[in-house]
Amino acid sequence: MGLADGVLAGSQRALARLATHVENDDDVGRAGLLKLFPHTGRAHVVGVTGPPGAGKSTLISALIGTLLERRFTVGVVAIDPTSPFSGGATLGDRIRMLERQSFPGVFIRSMASRGRTGGLAPATAGMIHLLDAGGYDVILVETVGVGQEQVDIGCLVDTLVLIQVPGSGDAVQLLKAGVLEFADVIVVNKADLVGAEDLARGLRSMVTASPRDRGDWSPPVLRCSATKGEGIPQLADAVIDHFAFLKTDDRLQRRRRAAAKSEIVDRVNAVIARRFSSADARDDLTDRLVDDVAQRRMTSFAAARILLDRWRSSEPNTGESS
Ligand code: GDP
Repeated sequence: MGLADGVLAGSQRALARLATHVENDDDVGRAGLLKLFPHTGRAHVVGVTGPPGAGKSTLISALIGTLLERRFTVGVVAIDPTSPFSGGATLGDRIRMLERQSFPGVFIRSMASRGRTGGLAPATAGMIHLLDAGGYDVILVETVGVGQEQVDIGCLVDTLVLIQVPGSGDAVQLLKAGVLEFADVIVVNKADLVGAEDLARGLRSMVTASPRDRGDWSPPVLRCSATKGEGIPQLADAVIDHFAFLKTDDRLQRRRRAAAKSEIVDRVNAVIARRFSSADARDDLTDRLVDDVAQRRMTSFAAARILLDRWRSSEPNTGESS
């Protein structure tokens, strides 16, 4: 039985193996996704994002427990923020620990945020599709981030949960980056610490004042203490309510259309990046253009145009099938 068939049959082993190929964005991964794609679209995809140390992993562990109690199966994709400089990773230890164990109804996978070609989203979206095809009811996508990265992940998910903690001091940053517009549920975690109530109040007034990109849903601001397990049932309620809200009218459809668009754009970027930045993309013309731009004889825009034109005329069909 092929890996994709194994995934459809509910094998976590096949899922784990195919996940490695999807993360590497290799031929086996693409062929698997091509086969599985018609079996996707059923899961509720939930992004969980916030600054490092906000308690995302702790909160997700607690949320998994609550969702299981409610008879949902749960897939988790934890995006490991691999620094392009150090190659280091800072993923929450809790998720790492959980990943090594196996529970019925739960599949946890961490992946590097950047593939070899530098694209975050293609592999992320692929991993979401994979877990979706694997039959998980809820897929939690954990990302560390502030600002634009949160907006990026917000484009790929149905529901975005934004975590803040007292004393993190970046609420103003959130406003500037426009992240609040994308948040569907806002969590003030570490509500056992001083300042949680003030932060929640501040966030509530920001939410009321900020323009909504996402229609007429008013994002609730919830207080949780992930370590104590407090506020987790309310968080589960809010996430489930949001999905029910999306299912009224054509909201879910619209959101998935936006996600599809974002995924395609990321895929285009990745294909082009791979085409032009891989070692074998070097040739005489490219070398000459690089010299021209370095010597200020040509702008990078003009050089990019020439390379794209040549690509278009020489390879009308690049054979990308997934
Ligand atoms: P992540 O980096 O966002 O995944 O954060 P972690 O889940 O690894 O948590 C970071 C630290 O915050 C850990 O020491 C947790 O025990 C602690 N933490 C998480 N949730 C809470 C909470 O609700 N209250 C308090 N006081 N500490 C918490």
